[in-house]
Amino acid sequence: MNEIFLLKLGEIVLKGSNKRQFENRLRQNVRRRLKPYGEFDVYIMQSTVYVKPMDENADVEGAWEACRSIFGIVNCCRCKPCEKDLDSIFDAVVEYLGEDLECAKSFKVESKRSDKAFPMTSIQISQDIGGRLAERYPDCAVDVHKPEYTVFVEVRDLAAYVHGPAVPGAGGLPTGVGGRAMCLLSGGIDSPVAAYMMAKRGMEIECVHFFSYPYTSELAKNKVLELARLVTKYCGRMTVNIVSFTEIQEAIRDNCPEEFFTLIMRRFMMEISQRVGKDDGCGALITGENLGQVASQTMEAMTVTGAVVDVPIFMPLVGMDKEEIISIARKIGTLETSILPYEDCCTVFTPRHPKTKPSLGQVLRAERKLNREELIEKAVASVEKILVQYHDEPLI
Ligand code: ATP
Ligand code: MG
Repeated sequence: MNEIFLLKLGEIVLKGSNKRQFENRLRQNVRRRLKPYGEFDVYIMQSTVYVKPMDENADVEGAWEACRSIFGIVNCCRCKPCEKDLDSIFDAVVEYLGEDLECAKSFKVESKRSDKAFPMTSIQISQDIGGRLAERYPDCAVDVHKPEYTVFVEVRDLAAYVHGPAVPGAGGLPTGVGGRAMCLLSGGIDSPVAAYMMAKRGMEIECVHFFSYPYTSELAKNKVLELARLVTKYCGRMTVNIVSFTEIQEAIRDNCPEEFFTLIMRRFMMEISQRVGKDDGCGALITGENLGQVASQTMEAMTVTGAVVDVPIFMPLVGMDKEEIISIARKIGTLETSILPYEDCCTVFTPRHPKTKPSLGQVLRAERKLNREELIEKAVASVEKILVQYHDEPLI
């Protein structure tokens, strides 16, 4: 069927002189994300992305689903294009939305005319089409206040388009307009949500995972790669850096006072993540930290762990309740994988009584016996880079 998607831009519309740059990025993102589904013509006009299937075999349903998870778009409409005259518009509504109107008890027509050369106003269009539809579907009454179904007519520059109610898009800003950041991804509930939230603000995401074989298993690593794959539904493909952390954790265990284990370990994570990310152009770190959730997530602990890096650390979940985080994890589809019971390296060598209000001086003293630089360099050199994309096979 001759069908087209109209994707309405969100906050980009408010951007002044940068608008063009945002639109170019969004168009690029849409094109790349639709590639696996066949050939589509993608262009932006009048604050709307037009997506038109160009080959018979295009997977239109798959493409439609994909469009709904692209950041920068607030609303998605599946439309039928037609000539810009009332007879064609009416015929298109009957052909494309007739079944919906037959099932509904009441309806109204809402029109928008962005082609100001069109000889009728939006109200006149709605009245004309509404009148004809009322005759055609006598069981469906006109109700302009609380209709069960709304028919939309948009008269735009190139054509007229008819569609039913729009569905919500992913919101946010186009991936890539907010710079690039390195997300510390564990196998838990929080960090995939943190990655999603910063991607939603337009950041390009890369991930780093610390892996302590044999204390943590291959399965735990696959779980993290699978979480990354699920997040790429929203942010596009990403690189996951796997860092071998065993030697560092053993060195901490053997050389540092137990109450500081987690803090020292997290300082290593931050510093290594910054170094791995710098080579790839990452200007910030992202973590799933949440104030007060565990001993290493007090203000004092965050000061001590943040002190080893000089880029900003974004913690989009810092002020949220666990329930709110879980509901986002459920919405984006990561929750079920996150709750699989594989261990994380944070749970290896956990202190019985972790220090919750450390000072930087105490921690520096506690890690005095370690050769930090050598351990860090070795870990950075051992990084394994894995490219993850949504169309890969599930890893778990
Ligand atoms: P999450 O649910 O994301 O695992 P958490 O509530 O378990 O978080 P912590 O274990 O204290 O909290 O970890 C805090 C943050 O540190 C995580 O959100 C994540 O960003 C990072 N992190 C923890 N473990 C790892 C790991 N093995 N590799 C990479 N990052 C990690
Ligand atoms: Mg965790």
